[in-house]
Amino acid sequence: MDCDLAIVGAGPAGLVAARTATELGLSHCVFEAKHRIGGRAYTEHERFGVPVDHGCHWLEGAEVNPFRAYADRHGIAYQRSHRNEHLFGSGAWCPAEDAAAFSDYADQVWAAGREAAAAGNDVALAQVAPPSSRWAGLFGGWCAALTGFEPERVSTVDLARYDERWGAWPVIDGYGALVARYGAKVQVQTDCPVRRIDWAGGGVVLDTGNGSIKAKCALITVSTGVLAADRIRFEPQLPAWKRDAIGGIPMGPAAKVMVGVRAGFIDLLDSQYVRFDNGTSRTAGYQVRPYGRELVIANLAGSFAAELESQGRDAMIEFVLSQMDEMFGSDLRHAVTGADATAWCGDPHVLGGYSIASPGYADCRRLLGKPVGGRLFFAGEAVSLRAFGSAHGAYESARNAVHTIQGCLGPGEPPA
Ligand SMILES: Cc1cc2nc3c(=O)[nH]c(=O)nc-3n(C[C@H](O)[C@H](O)[C@H](O)COP(=O)(O)OP(=O)(O)OC[C@H]3O[C@@H](n4cnc5c(N)ncnc54)[C@H](O)[C@@H]3O)c2cc1C
Repeated sequence: MDCDLAIVGAGPAGLVAARTATELGLSHCVFEAKHRIGGRAYTEHERFGVPVDHGCHWLEGAEVNPFRAYADRHGIAYQRSHRNEHLFGSGAWCPAEDAAAFSDYADQVWAAGREAAAAGNDVALAQVAPPSSRWAGLFGGWCAALTGFEPERVSTVDLARYDERWGAWPVIDGYGALVARYGAKVQVQTDCPVRRIDWAGGGVVLDTGNGSIKAKCALITVSTGVLAADRIRFEPQLPAWKRDAIGGIPMGPAAKVMVGVRAGFIDLLDSQYVRFDNGTSRTAGYQVRPYGRELVIANLAGSFAAELESQGRDAMIEFVLSQMDEMFGSDLRHAVTGADATAWCGDPHVLGGYSIASPGYADCRRLLGKPVGGRLFFAGEAVSLRAFGSAHGAYESARNAVHTIQGCLGPGEPPA
């Protein structure tokens, strides 16, 4: 055997798994398909001269999030506050009453979803939402931003299980940078995709970009998008219950478009969040001048994000600029200093934004986390029942999985 545990993926879950394995004295190897660690936690520093998160940015579950505790220990800056929100629609900034009316409608829909879940109805959130409201379109976009899909494709039971207490605080220095620092000392073989896992014998044999390795067991932390696309071949193939579970928890699309704007052009105060209401879910939410930076970051999600991404980076940027024209005036185009867009749906190592159970499939999450054959273990955001779609859910799932693995393998050597 080359090691006790082979860890597939070095996103938040893979890095936490490696550090936990070290703590518990389990020998391990980590394989990462990309040239970098962090997965969907990625901060880009060069393009705009400031840290910009392409993936996770908010410390969800902030008060109990172990990455927040890590940020505290290491002086990584985050903002301990709620968003200051504005609403824009029909060519003008909307009065506060409109924003309050939208917020009331959203509260009603979430409450209806929780009620259905409590009654055991695992149905689409759209099915229980109050009938026709002028806010339904905008809510569709907001629901997609939070969950990955519009209310038609979101399970009430899955949603109700998410623990939404404890705040969501943005990381000023970048959540991706935080995760990269957390994982900096983990030994990872990057540019090293795992292509095949043979679990027919006593342990597991992984075919990787750097040859074959044998381990007692494997911890797979890739997204359900990657698993569903069979980008890792299992031999023998995964049992039907596991494949069904993967199919029940698809990846909702999520994307960001970043626009640099000349200093002084936008007069909104720092760190405003703007919802753009065009009466449909085909819209975006905007972080305007986050932390005083001369930037606007548009958050897109759901089927519309996937559709735009498939049309390419220029189409994504053009859509966002057209909404920004309306908000900030037609001179905007002259004030733009640069623009960029993410492409998570087309990224072969991710294939989407974050996981969300389809209506009727909420219980698939438990099955997703169940080991197979005592040697294939699973972790990652999609496995977390209470914090799916979030980096701290990935954290929690990985720690739990490595403790379970230690229970199966017996105690390892204490760390040196
Ligand atoms: C646009 C966007 C915004 C988000 N915003 C937030 C937010 O504000 N707050 C929050 O908490 N979360 C947010 N998330 C979600 C968060 O980023 C994820 O929940 C988190 O990164 C999941 O970690 P993970 O380790 O489970 O998976 P990943 O981050 O996907 O890591 C899996 C790793 O496996 C690697 N891999 C894939 N295939 C292979 C293979 N064959 N061999 C080896 N390695 C492989 C991948 O390259 C990747 O590095 C956001 C995500 C997106 C896309």
